[in-house]
Amino acid sequence: MTPLRNFIGGTWTESADPVRLDVVNPATEEVVARIPAGSPLDVNKAVTAATVAQPEWHAYPVAERVHLVDAWADGIAEHAAELAELECQEMGKPAAAGRFFVAGGVAALKASLADAATYSFETSTMHDGGGTTRIIRNPLGVAAVITPWNFPVAAVLSAVGALLVAGNTIVVKPSEKSPLSTARLFELLTLPPGVANLVLGDGRAGEPLTEHPGVGLIHFTGSVPVGRAIGAKAGHGLRRALLELGGKDPVIVDTGVDPVVTAQAVAHGTFVNTGQICTSMERIYVHRDIATPFIDALVTAAETYTLGDGDDEAKMLGPLVDARRRDVVHAHVTDAVARGAKVHTGGVLPGGKGFYYPPTVLTDVDDTMLVMTEETFGPVAPVRIVDSFEDGLRLAGRSRFGLAATIYTDNPAHAKAAETLPAGIIWINQWQGGGPDRVFEPAGDSGVGAVGGHAAYDAATRPSAIHREPGLVT
Ligand code: NAD
Repeated sequence: MTPLRNFIGGTWTESADPVRLDVVNPATEEVVARIPAGSPLDVNKAVTAATVAQPEWHAYPVAERVHLVDAWADGIAEHAAELAELECQEMGKPAAAGRFFVAGGVAALKASLADAATYSFETSTMHDGGGTTRIIRNPLGVAAVITPWNFPVAAVLSAVGALLVAGNTIVVKPSEKSPLSTARLFELLTLPPGVANLVLGDGRAGEPLTEHPGVGLIHFTGSVPVGRAIGAKAGHGLRRALLELGGKDPVIVDTGVDPVVTAQAVAHGTFVNTGQICTSMERIYVHRDIATPFIDALVTAAETYTLGDGDDEAKMLGPLVDARRRDVVHAHVTDAVARGAKVHTGGVLPGGKGFYYPPTVLTDVDDTMLVMTEETFGPVAPVRIVDSFEDGLRLAGRSRFGLAATIYTDNPAHAKAAETLPAGIIWINQWQGGGPDRVFEPAGDSGVGAVGGHAAYDAATRPSAIHREPGLVT
């Protein structure tokens, strides 16, 4: 099996280090590819290529940069089915879902390109005495883009638009678990050599990239512990870091809603992508008045999900990404059960090949159990019954995470009150809506730095103020 290579300065390049990592299909447990483990030498080469290419890239007019990135986006859209198949092989996502999310990633990239048309890269103000102040938004230079495995294509595409259009060059380091689809993105690249570079590997590539003095901005999407370590290093190096991290998102189900329809929506929010979404619903607070029909319907919905290799279009849920992830998910369920939780469906490790885990519904949980405090990142729905909406709101807000929160209610005052939840995104009577260009910043441990819309351009640039008086120079 030929190992994948890095893409540096427009050329596919062997890693300087002989160590290789296996990429394993989580449905079959077979090795589907090998990649370099990563090394500081590879990183240095990529950052150097990006540094060399950056001034020329910045010299292009903004509209030309938009045009070139847009051509890349079009090519990616044309290959959505192939990219979805690669995602399916490397991390188990059913191909049908993969196509949907690749399209979502392209839409996010295109939305970011459209935002450039209304972004002020330069503003100018005239003073009373005839002097002017111009504010110029300059790129930061080379941006490191480090991504996780759960949405390999979309994670890259939603990060790079503003970075590139603002005149930065990039070095992308995808997860070692899901490098195939990202490598394919680079085969489809339409940008000048050195503008976008790819370095493969695990932390052995990620760490030197975040420490490299030639990197002006780190855009990291991943777990809280790695994000925290990167944030500390960025602070030490006095460099900007955007950290998009994990969550433990609550959902509040209020008394006046249809319990069956809402349970189906909550099942989707909990189980889709086998629960491996940073904004998966991971804590469910349901009003006592409708708890019984809601839980019954949630169990029914959970049992309709078919598990299997995502190559099979009939399967709704693929496996978890690896054995380690499945161990964590099962440990959370086991901890809850040991402390009094009741399993309504699921909760049992299946035999056979593949890192599958069944959709699981738990009740009698409390907010001290791992399944209610730590990110589970699996298809587990822990339901806590609350006596009032206010109790649900209070418990929902009591978490160290703050990525997103969802509320289902027919009460306008309750919908309004939910806006106070400490979360970057609040969904009311829906989940995942709002358009790809929404602006938000996670709260608490879920990250630092606003993303989306013009905020992405603010993050990708550094303003310089140029004050000029007339008279001395003509
Ligand atoms: P992870 O933190 O283990 O890895 C993320 C990336 O960091 C990978 O590319 C990995 O190789 C790299 N990495 C590992 N160690 C590193 C180091 N020391 N220095 C630099 N880079 C290093 O996360 P994961 O398991 O790949 O992804 C799952 C996590 O990502 C979950 O917590 C999920 O909630 C989060 N996530 C967040 C968002 C968001 O937008 N907030 C989106 C998707 C996933």
